[in-house]
Amino acid sequence: MKACVFTLGCKMNEVESASLMRGLEERGYEVTDELGYADLYLLNTCAVTAEAERKSRQAVARMRKFNPAAPVVVCGCASEQNAEAFLGKEGVTLVLGAQNKSKVLSVLEERGIFRETERSFCELPQPKQTKTRAFLRIQDGCDRFCSYCLIPYLRGRTRSRRAESVLSEAKSCGAKEIVLTGIDVSSYRDGEVGLGELLLLLKEVPARVRLGSLEEGIVDEKFLKQMKEAGNVAPHFHLSLQSGSSAVLKAMNRRYTREEYLACCTKIYEYFPDAAITTDIIVGFPTETEENFRESLSILGKAGFARVHCFPFSSRPGTAAAKKPDLPAAVKRERMARLSEAAKRAETAYVSRFLGTERTVLFEEDGGYTENYIRVYADGAKEGMLARVKLIKLYRDGAFAEIMEEIE
Ligand code: SF4
Repeated sequence: MKACVFTLGCKMNEVESASLMRGLEERGYEVTDELGYADLYLLNTCAVTAEAERKSRQAVARMRKFNPAAPVVVCGCASEQNAEAFLGKEGVTLVLGAQNKSKVLSVLEERGIFRETERSFCELPQPKQTKTRAFLRIQDGCDRFCSYCLIPYLRGRTRSRRAESVLSEAKSCGAKEIVLTGIDVSSYRDGEVGLGELLLLLKEVPARVRLGSLEEGIVDEKFLKQMKEAGNVAPHFHLSLQSGSSAVLKAMNRRYTREEYLACCTKIYEYFPDAAITTDIIVGFPTETEENFRESLSILGKAGFARVHCFPFSSRPGTAAAKKPDLPAAVKRERMARLSEAAKRAETAYVSRFLGTERTVLFEEDGGYTENYIRVYADGAKEGMLARVKLIKLYRDGAFAEIMEEIE
């Protein structure tokens, strides 16, 4: 685990930071005084001038850029002078002021902050799996705290598997498709290696790589270029939406609006015109009005979803959403029926776009998937077969195809 102790201001601050660094080293942290990626940030601030205060606040934003998931603990004069300026900043876990620096490490201990950062990725034995598809755990936990979800409380903060460990399992599993899985795969980070960089490392593995569920924030030009450059990543984006209404998204504590989500889909199609964007939508969130629900309905066509998994809101005691009165079951049931129908239409429209075209399918026991996640059935298909096929007609939950050529 890496800790960054960043210091502004006087010699006194430097000396105090040096002892904090020593204390962290004794706890087994690799410690640096330079801003960069870390699992824990300690910011020792200065208030000697207004400029020093501004730089102190700015340092928090810089830390968040390196690792938005890491706790930021602020101490020193600027935090004593104006604690509110730090308490209100996203990502700041604790503000301790200037008086009690000798107690900083013991407070971190008491508040469980060490425990959070030290709860590292739990390596498990390589799971038993078929030679067709291997599910590789690359990440665990979540820091997003959506208002309806218990996962961050149950699984703890996000943590990632070492990139070399992911690569080694990917190489040794021998599967033809590798699915990178986790609770919040988008937050994957091992030092300098984020999810995009991991895909570039996996380029050397002779398998198709598929991404697990993503958050829209990961999808930017850099990431899409990395996906393209890797060359073996399936153009399939499972981008959880949860609601098509910006008002409901806000109440859910999701970090994007309807417009931002749609802009993200447009960007994906610019890079991967055939991309399958699949999603999850919650129906009947406590604050969802009929008008809000209609926004969920209308976003289906606009986003061009290939598959939509919709499910009714279910109140989880202990979450913020559970404090709000639930909608009547009949309302949720009726909205579920309407959304499920619209989802079916969207899925059919997506598959229909590709009828008559050739795709590559990796067959499993009963059917298989194209790179863009169309479920395909064909006569003569065998489990583990990778084949070039022509999609002929709509069939079951996907398409029926003719096998043109077996690959390998
Ligand atoms: S819904 Fe997903 S992103 Fe949101 S808190 Fe739960 S696990 Fe995290």
